[in-house]
Amino acid sequence: MYEIPNLQSSDSKPSAIAVLTSGGDSPGMNPAIRGVVRAALHQGIKVYGVNKGYSGLIIGDMAEMDSASVTNIVQRGGTLLKSDRCLAFKDPAVRYQAAEVLKEKGIEGLVVIGGDGSLTGAHLLTQENDIKVIGLPGTIDNDIYGTDDTIGFDTAVNTALDAIDKIRDTALSHENLFLVEVMGRNSGFIATHVGIACGAEMIIAPEYEIQAESICFQLANNRLQGKGSSGIIVVAEGPKPGLTTHLAKQLNQHQLDPKVCILGHIQRGGSPSGHDRVLASCLGASAVDYLCAGFNDVMIGVRNGKITETPLHQIIEKNKKLDNRLFERAQLLHK
Ligand code: ADP
Repeated sequence: MYEIPNLQSSDSKPSAIAVLTSGGDSPGMNPAIRGVVRAALHQGIKVYGVNKGYSGLIIGDMAEMDSASVTNIVQRGGTLLKSDRCLAFKDPAVRYQAAEVLKEKGIEGLVVIGGDGSLTGAHLLTQENDIKVIGLPGTIDNDIYGTDDTIGFDTAVNTALDAIDKIRDTALSHENLFLVEVMGRNSGFIATHVGIACGAEMIIAPEYEIQAESICFQLANNRLQGKGSSGIIVVAEGPKPGLTTHLAKQLNQHQLDPKVCILGHIQRGGSPSGHDRVLASCLGASAVDYLCAGFNDVMIGVRNGKITETPLHQIIEKNKKLDNRLFERAQLLHK
């Protein structure tokens, strides 16, 4: 349950707003869109859905939404509005063009659902132009400062777990060691949560450098203690592709012969979990409350169970750190 702030509408309540999804899709973007649309209509605000993120925005590819536009999407993965990566949006002239498109339609506020790249674009758009923006953290990686949870993280963890539980059956039957790569780019949130929940023998996260020799030493030790030779090592993908295959080659040199399983994009798809549906719905509806209360240039997230805002410049400047103690606890559990 989330504590929802009791915001009062200001004189600057917008008459029309737009919503878009941008960057990598995440399960829960649909309930977030639904939250924005239904809350806006409730407040008597016109709401437009922009197709394909910033790519659609700069060419005015948008349509007015009504309550029926978001019927039957709360349980669907992906994003009804589609998403895109639009490199042109890094150009201030293109952002000016986007602002002009919005103004022409009488749109005063924009809700951007996406990761840190998309939120950077939103911040620049409002800094340079007279358009209000509210960001929502839509990414499976959970690597956004200002919120304990991002939309899609919980579903991604559960999707990876479902796959790993199946892999574990084969690992046990054949006494195999598996390196299972999960998403997370520069952050080990997915790897750490998945590793704890699947009972991994080891977790490799980008925040904590570990040498192949030390992994081998630990695995050899496990075998000496009669823990068998099967096992699951959860590896965060890291900033560059190929990390897990490289690690497997190093372990091969020590006769550990691991099998590699890269979970990849299955973690981004699928029906959002109950947790993500509630989080996304509450954040979507709250984005409209914040716009009506006169807020601008903030991201709405959840901290300590409370829906709260954080200035977008802080989201961009600060990194959300994996909790050391959580990682230590994970290590203790797999001993
Ligand atoms: P995510 O939002 O998931 O982090 P990206 O980093 O790919 O995904 O960013 C998504 C989009 O956000 C980019 O394609 C671009 O349109 C916009 N964006 C990213 N970084 C910037 C930036 N520095 N300035 C303006 N727009 C940006």
